[in-house]
Amino acid sequence: MAQTDKKTFDEGALTMTSEYPATGELAGHPTGAEHAVLLRGVLLYGEGEKQDVLIQDGVIAEIGADLADSAPQGAEVLDLDGQVLLPGLVDMHVHLREPGREDTETIATGSAAAAQGGFTAVFTMANTAPVTDNPAIAEMVWFKGQNTNLCDVHPVGSISKGLEGKELTEFGMMADSDAKVRMFSDDGKCVDDPRLMRRAIEYSKGMDVLLAQHCEEPRLTEGAVAHEGETAARLGLGGWPRVAEESIVARDAIMARDYGGRLHICHASTEGTVELLRWVKDQDIPLSAEVTPHHLLLTDARLETYDGVNRVNPPLREQRDVEALRAALIDGTVDCVATDHAPHGSEDKCCEFDQARPGMLGIETSLALIAKIFVIDGDEDWRFVAKVMSERPAEITKLPGHGRPIAVGEPANLCAVDLNQKWTAHGKDMASKANNTPYEGMEMPVKVTTTLLRGKVTCKNGSAVK
Ligand SMILES: [Zn+2]
Repeated sequence: MAQTDKKTFDEGALTMTSEYPATGELAGHPTGAEHAVLLRGVLLYGEGEKQDVLIQDGVIAEIGADLADSAPQGAEVLDLDGQVLLPGLVDMHVHLREPGREDTETIATGSAAAAQGGFTAVFTMANTAPVTDNPAIAEMVWFKGQNTNLCDVHPVGSISKGLEGKELTEFGMMADSDAKVRMFSDDGKCVDDPRLMRRAIEYSKGMDVLLAQHCEEPRLTEGAVAHEGETAARLGLGGWPRVAEESIVARDAIMARDYGGRLHICHASTEGTVELLRWVKDQDIPLSAEVTPHHLLLTDARLETYDGVNRVNPPLREQRDVEALRAALIDGTVDCVATDHAPHGSEDKCCEFDQARPGMLGIETSLALIAKIFVIDGDEDWRFVAKVMSERPAEITKLPGHGRPIAVGEPANLCAVDLNQKWTAHGKDMASKANNTPYEGMEMPVKVTTTLLRGKVTCKNGSAVK
């Protein structure tokens, strides 16, 4: 991968560490600092010999072959014999639906789902009702996350007021609020007006915040519900062409080249986007990109049943897109995985395909799917999973304390994966309030058993700790 983007994103990655309270602290909950936890027999990044990891005061205090005698009395001991220990996962792109659609997900249920997925930090998008376009909403989201105490829930602020694409929001006021908003996006909608996007970039530079673009030229997607191709044509579904995405990726790449800033492409879905991103990396343009597990696994062949659960924006593409995206994630052209976890109620999914709301659950199945595609069925190792699901997203968002090496002195944001625990995905069993998983009935080859947020156990034996 191009090393230059590392340089861009690494600078100052830790500068905001001290500004964040421990999750739960503000709400008066106990944090990990109050007790010690001993993880027994883990394989760090799936490598080497089994180790014990002792966590005290929310940080990793000691790593060694047998720390039973080092642990203080009363330490919580978790026997994780042979499980893979990874840094806690970071998801740059979720929809927790609060405020506005608490019937489909809340910050509490979304945090529980995140903890069960191995995540210690998520960024929740601004397309709530009301829209997260001001400090009051952003702080409400942040404090509710604190209060839930299962995951760091970072609100994403909208780029335009009311997601209307007309007037910029007050980035500075949201960035300076208690929520310390560090990412802005109109996700769900594209900032299609190039003048507004240019002004957003110029404005964002003073605050060093990230702008995440949902790349969709809306004049090319009117009436579109499925990837424009042979399948949509045969099924009589409105086609969503690749160029609707790629034209915005190209435009924003050139804007980032000429105006700077820090730009990020949400849910890259096409082979052509990958080609553009290769050019971006060659030119040292400050633009990063994410890909979802569903775009790395599923294709529009799924649409044959007209099941609304498969409707998503951007749409499921073709096998050649899947192959291109996989190769791009492996070689660093696409930086990271983000789930675009998008809960919907059954009334919005169990209906005519073109009436179904776009989006699918993803946060509880993502680690297992990425492991299956790239480690179990592929040639990558667990270091790769740590990179694309934790380290890179934390670097891109400049998120302190997450995506750090598993080493003494580092914050104990961790997750453990059992390679011998297969499970079957069922929407009804998930911690998420919704059950619109496209993986219903699919066997998952590995399971996240344990998650720790600054030393506090947030998931144990595969279940979020209430
Ligand atoms: Zn989107």
